[in-house]
Amino acid sequence: MQLTEKILALKTPCYLYNLPLLRKTLQNVKEESGRYPAFHAHYAIKANANPVLLKVIREYGLGADCVSGNEVKRAVECGFPRDSIVYAGVGKSDEEILTALKEDIFCFNCESLPEIRVINGLAAQCSKKARIALRINPNVDAHTHHYITTGIEENKFGIYLCDLDQVLAELTALEHIELTGLHFHIGSQITDMGVFRSLCLKVNEIQQHLNHKGLRLPHINFGGGLGIDYNNPHAEPIADFASYFNTFARHFEPACPNQQVHFELGRSVVAHCGDLISRVLYVKEGKNKKFVILDAGMNDLLRPALYQAFHKIENISSRLPEEKYDVVGPICESSDCFGKEVSLRQTNRGDIIVIHSAGAYGETMASQYNLRNLPGSYFEGE
Ligand SMILES: *Cc1c(COP(=O)(O)O)cnc(C)c1O
Repeated sequence: MQLTEKILALKTPCYLYNLPLLRKTLQNVKEESGRYPAFHAHYAIKANANPVLLKVIREYGLGADCVSGNEVKRAVECGFPRDSIVYAGVGKSDEEILTALKEDIFCFNCESLPEIRVINGLAAQCSKKARIALRINPNVDAHTHHYITTGIEENKFGIYLCDLDQVLAELTALEHIELTGLHFHIGSQITDMGVFRSLCLKVNEIQQHLNHKGLRLPHINFGGGLGIDYNNPHAEPIADFASYFNTFARHFEPACPNQQVHFELGRSVVAHCGDLISRVLYVKEGKNKKFVILDAGMNDLLRPALYQAFHKIENISSRLPEEKYDVVGPICESSDCFGKEVSLRQTNRGDIIVIHSAGAYGETMASQYNLRNLPGSYFEGE
C-alpha cells in the first residue's frame, strides 16, 4: 500500500475502506452465485454495518442476514427489501421479534422450541403468521478456531438433530408459525471446501428423512463461513466464491426442483476491503525486543485479542530495512497486541502502520473501552 497525502491527513486510528475492491468482490459474488438460478446471496450485517458499505452491497442485489432487531432496522434503512431479510440468533428478545414481525421480513431463523413458542404468541398478537426456518446443528466440524465453530453439538447454536422430529411435531399446533426452511451455519473462516461438501451430504440426509415424512420445504439456508487469505491480502484480495458456490451446486440435492438455496456471507464480502490505519506513538526498547506502540488498540480492532487472529501489518512510511517488533496498542491489557515478532521496516514515531484485512468484524466490534474514541471511517475511490 502506498503512502499518500490523503492517508497522511487521516485522523488516526481509523478504518479506510476500498470501495472499488468492494465493488469487484460483489460483482464476483453476483456472477458466481448467478450461475445457479435457485441461489440467493445475503450479506451478514454483523461483519460490517457501516451504512456506506451497506448501500453499495445492496446495489448488487444481495439480501441481508441480521442477528439483532437493530440490524433488521439498519437493513431496512439502507434499502434492503423486507422480503430479502433473514433474522437469526439464539436470544431474540420480544422487542426484537416484534420489530422483525412489523417489518414483515422473509424469515426468522429459529434456534429452539421456547423461542418458536414466543414468536408464535407475538405473531398472534399482531395477527400475523411468522415464516420460520429451523436452525439445525448438523454436528459438522468446521475445522476452524474453536471460538468461531458453531455447528458441533457441544455449542449453544441450533436445534440438535435428535430433537428435530419432536420440534416438527410441536410446530403443527402453532397457528401463527409457517415453517418454510432449514438453516445451517457451522462456523467462520472456513477455507476447506471439503467442510462445505460434508455439510451438503448431511443436509441431503436430513432432507431424505423429511421426505419420508412427506415434508418438502421451500428453502434451505446454508449460512456463511467462507474464509479469506489473511496472509496474502494483496495476492488474493477476492475470496474463492467460484469454488464455494460450485461446491453446493455439485453436492447439494434439492428436495424438489424449485427449492431455493440461500447463503449468508459476511467476512468474505468485506474483510479485504477495509484496513485499520494507525500512527506510531512510541518505539520502546525492551530487554530482548522492541515494541511498536500504536495509537490503535484492541478497542478499535478486537480480533487479535479475542481470537488470536492474524492480520498482516505494514509500515508504509519507512523505506529502511526490516526489523522485528512486537506491535501493541495503548490499552492496559496484555492481550492488547496486534502481532509478535512482526517484520516491519525500521519504525519511528509518527510512521503510518496499516493493519490489513480488517473490514470484517473490525469496526462493528469496536468499543469505547478506556473511554477511548470510536475509530472513524473513511472511503477510498468514491
Ligand atoms: C456470523 C454469521 C454469518 C456470517 O458468517 P461469515 O463467516 O462472516 O461469513 C452468517 N450467518 C449467521 C447466522 C451468522 O451468525
